[in-house]
Amino acid sequence: MSKDTLRTQLLKARNSLSSEARQRLSHSITDYLIHALPKNPIRIGSYMALGSEVDLKALHSELLSSRHRLYIPRILSRTAMEMVALDHEEQLTEGTYGIQTSSQTETIEFRALDWLIMPCSGFDQRGYRLGMGGGFYDRALEQCSPNAPLRIGVAFTSQQASFEPDPWDQPFDWIVTEAGFIRR
Ligand code: ADP
Ligand code: MG
Repeated sequence: MSKDTLRTQLLKARNSLSSEARQRLSHSITDYLIHALPKNPIRIGSYMALGSEVDLKALHSELLSSRHRLYIPRILSRTAMEMVALDHEEQLTEGTYGIQTSSQTETIEFRALDWLIMPCSGFDQRGYRLGMGGGFYDRALEQCSPNAPLRIGVAFTSQQASFEPDPWDQPFDWIVTEAGFIRR
């Protein structure tokens, strides 16, 4: 099956989750992430959920009231995005493709992040990621070393699938589902 066909199937399945189930599963995923946070402050790239993506709002609230720093994507073009700081929820604003972003001006290089938490339409058992088909994270991570940032995918267990990755596909180091952490 092609990545495109599989992506369509997986998104349809994810969209069919009730919003109650999605919130419950998202909370389990958030709890695992919060418990994995180190004591020392780190720089964390995350994202604002669109549609039926895993919703990390509760993680963000926790980070905003801690010494950790939070950054979220801002779409720059059809192929590029940057990570922009979010200091408090009042900075949230609607961005490109209807995805919420931050009105802050401070940005950070992907390679300077300690963690990068990414959504996906699917993942495989080797840790490969199926995105929305734009290749945004593949391009951003191409500029990074394998050591930083730590690449964390979040997904519902129902998003696991088998597919052949392309040569440019950047795998996750860890995947967090409602069942816990999976290490690549
Ligand atoms: P996604 O990762 O969002 O599921 P794909 O892996 O299918 O999407 O990539 C989408 C497109 O992005 C592909 O057509 C590919 O050519 C392009 N792309 C991905 N990574 C790179 C890269 N590092 N450099 C240039 N183009 C890339
Ligand atoms: Mg890809």
